[in-house]
Parts: sequence; C-alpha cells; structure tokens
Amino acid sequence: MSVLMKTDPYWWEAAPRPDIEAPELPAKIDIAIVGSGYTGLIAALKLVEAGRSVAVFDSGAIGSGASSRNSGFVGRTLKYSFGDLVKAKGLSQAIDTYREMQAAYQAVADTVREYAIDCDFKVHGRLVVGETPAQFEALKHEYEMRYLHLGSPFEILDKPALTREIGSPRYCGGVVLPDLASIHPGLYHAGLVRAALAAGVSLHPFTRVAALKNNGHGFDVATARGSFAAGDVILATNGYTDGLLPWLQRRLIPFDAWQMATDPLPRALIDQLLPNDRTYIDSYMNVDAIRRAPDGSRILYTGKTGTRSNETEMARRLMGELKDVFPDLKEFGVSYSWTGRCAASFDLLPHLGTYDGVHFAAGYCFAGLPMGSHFGRLLAQRILKPGSVRSVFADRDFPTVPFYRGNNWFVPWMMRYYDCKEGKRQAA
Ligand SMILES: Cc1cc2nc3c(=O)[nH]c(=O)nc-3n(C[C@H](O)[C@H](O)[C@H](O)COP(=O)(O)OP(=O)(O)OC[C@H]3O[C@@H](n4cnc5c(N)ncnc54)[C@H](O)[C@@H]3O)c2cc1C
Repeated sequence: MSVLMKTDPYWWEAAPRPDIEAPELPAKIDIAIVGSGYTGLIAALKLVEAGRSVAVFDSGAIGSGASSRNSGFVGRTLKYSFGDLVKAKGLSQAIDTYREMQAAYQAVADTVREYAIDCDFKVHGRLVVGETPAQFEALKHEYEMRYLHLGSPFEILDKPALTREIGSPRYCGGVVLPDLASIHPGLYHAGLVRAALAAGVSLHPFTRVAALKNNGHGFDVATARGSFAAGDVILATNGYTDGLLPWLQRRLIPFDAWQMATDPLPRALIDQLLPNDRTYIDSYMNVDAIRRAPDGSRILYTGKTGTRSNETEMARRLMGELKDVFPDLKEFGVSYSWTGRCAASFDLLPHLGTYDGVHFAAGYCFAGLPMGSHFGRLLAQRILKPGSVRSVFADRDFPTVPFYRGNNWFVPWMMRYYDCKEGKRQAA
C-alpha cells in the first residue's frame, strides 16, 4: 500500500464535491427531493424543465453518496439472472424485466447526450468470466437465453480464446457483451449538478431532512436548517436511507461496497492484463469488478462487498485479491481506497412507488447507475402525469421480514455464506 494512500474516491480528483452554499430555505416549494445522487438530480431536472419549483436536499455535500463513489459500470443486469427470473416468475415477466433493464441502460446514454456531459461514456463491452466449468456452462446458458428472447449480442470464449481478453490464467471461460458501457461516475454526476443549477433547481447541501408530515394537501418538511411546505416529496436515498420514512427503511438492506485504485501502472502492463479495455466481472454472487481508469493510467477494483472494515484494511485485502488475479501486479501498491453504500431489497429487485404520499425509488441491488438514471425520470413522470408510468418495478409488493428495522448486522455473514457455498477463493 502506498504511504500516501487517499481514502476519498479516485473519481473526486477529476470531479471534486461541488462547492455550493445552501440557499435560504423556501417558504413553499412544489417538490422537495431528498438525496442528491443520480436519482434525485435527474428527477429534479425533469420536474424543473416542466415548470415546477424544485429543491434538492442532502445530509452531506451534494453527491457525496454512492453516485460519486461507484465503479462506473453501465449494464443491464440484476442480481436475479434472466434464467433465474424465468424460473421464478415465468418467461413473459422475465422478458419485460430485462427489457426495462435495457431502457435503464439507455437512460444513461440519453442523459449523457441530452445534457452534453463529458464523462468518458464509452461502449467498449464487458467480459464476464467463469472460474469453474460449472460457472462457464451457466454463463453460456444465461447469455444464449438472453440472445434468444431479448436479442442481446454476446460471444462465448473458451479458455484459449480468453487469453486475448484478460491476462490472467485463473478463468476457464467467459462471454463478451459487446454493447455494454462504462462511465466516469464522478464526471457524470458533476454534469448533472451543472445542468440542474443551470435549469434552476436549488441545491441544499448539509441539510438533512429530519421529518415529513403529510398534511392532506402536501407536506410539512422539517430540516436541520428549518421547515417549509412542499406539494410533493421524493425520497432518493437508496443505500443512505435513514429513519425519515421507517416503512422504507424496513424494506432496504444497506451494505458497504469497497473500491480501490492501484498506483499508476506502465501502459504496456495494463495492455497486457486488460487488452481490450473492457469492464470485467466474475460470476460469483459477491461479484468482483475490474476496469481501467478512464485515462488508462491504473486499474480499479471493486470487491468484498458487505464487509465491515476500514479503507486501510480493505486496500490491503482488495490488492491481495487483485494480485491473486494478476500476479504481475506484485510490485505495485494502492493509491486510493474508498467505500460507499448501496441497498438491496429482500426480493432482489429494485422498487419504485409511493407510500403515504411520499414517492420513492430504491433497492437498486448494485445496478443503480442505470436504474437511478431511469427511475429519476419515472419519478418525475409520476408527479407530472399520475398514472402514466408503466414499469415492471413500480407499485409491486415490497417485502420485508418480521422485526427488521434496517439494522444490517447479518450482511457480512450472508456474504460469507455465499462465498462458502460457491467456493469462492479468498486471497491471504
Ligand atoms: C463502490 C460502489 C460501486 C458501485 N458500482 C456500481 C456500478 O458499477 N454500476 C452500477 O450500476 N451501480 C454501482 N453502484 C451502485 C450505485 O452507485 C448506486 O446504486 C447509485 O449511485 C444510487 O444513486 P442514488 O441517487 O439513488 O443514491 P445515492 O447517490 O447513494 O444518494 C443518496 C443520498 O441521499 C442522502 N440522504 C439520505 N438520507 C437523507 C436525509 N434524511 N436528508 C438528506 N439527505 C439524505 C445521502 O447523503 C446521499 O448523498 C456502486 C456503489 C458503490 C458504493
């Protein structure tokens, strides 16, 4: 590990947290949005463009949640594979669900284009690898089904063919999904902040929304800086959901995700390890994700999701795992190690809905970059044209379990259970 390792996200170098002073609180506003990540900002943009007055609140700096901390993989996959969804819910629902995932993917591309955001959005494909023959067989089956029913392109690579895609002997096969993308998540978020300010959204950093009261014709909103009235309220808080709406907190399982960036690496070494500059994931439930930094200077690695630890310890563990995949990295250290919060739901599906008049979108299960971009638009549409939103994720049963209040003590144990069940190799 490098002596000067930073514990802020690597992304904040190019996109520091915006230096915004909170304006005075309004006496009355059309829509108050809690949470200033992708979901909240995109909803705000669409509402303000339709002529509504909108204020966005965040307990911390604007965008200090997962939206400026993630890996920047833009995909269309849920924790529920297409094959598992067919078994659990039937073919027709699986097709509708994955078609909407494609719409969510498209929402990112559309947002980047619409607001002319310079954020390294690049369609360069994803490699999904299998470490065991069983995983490779499952991959082939999954992507053959997706091709058959959804037309999603893919290419199967056996072990010899894999050498042209990844410089690691560890995997026995994989599939390339040529039409998936990556992004610089910090610059994407910064572009949304710029667009929101230009459109007239008022942004209130360091202003926790502490209480909401539905008064029958709108909301009384209490914040750390005072109170005001709002016609509608959106909760866009995903992994950072607190006790503001206990009903929602009871339905979400927050978990920590960890990411690191290596020291700068020789270009020739990166070209040898990640030859085609794709995004890379493995096939475990507790997925590992690898990519180049957008400028090609280093490798970024995400893993050990759900672990309770600190950035220094996780730098050591993640780099140990990365060296296990790429022994050629043994001379190199970690320059950045950071964490962020995601949220899963008990049914492993994202949810969009309204409870006691409060609109919400959450439970993205690690697909929040496309889902947040998509649901931000849908939340705005629900307010502008009630009843017009068609989404397989909207207004469905949102399960919880008895006595659960949002305490996620069981997550590290659950992840260890999956690691053992799937025989995932642990680095020293
Ligand atoms: C390390 C990591 C890697 C990831 N990689 C990927 C990836 O590659 N691809 C992908 O699709 N997804 C990924 N994700 C998930 C994705 O980043 C999130 O799902 C997504 O950013 C959620 O966006 P959001 O706008 O809903 O919430 P967030 O961006 O998390 O914002 C929620 C905000 O709500 C605020 N808040 C909470 N309560 C209150 C309150 N009471 N008052 C005021 N403010 C409040 C918080 O301060 C926070 O800023 C990753 C996440 C992490 C942490």
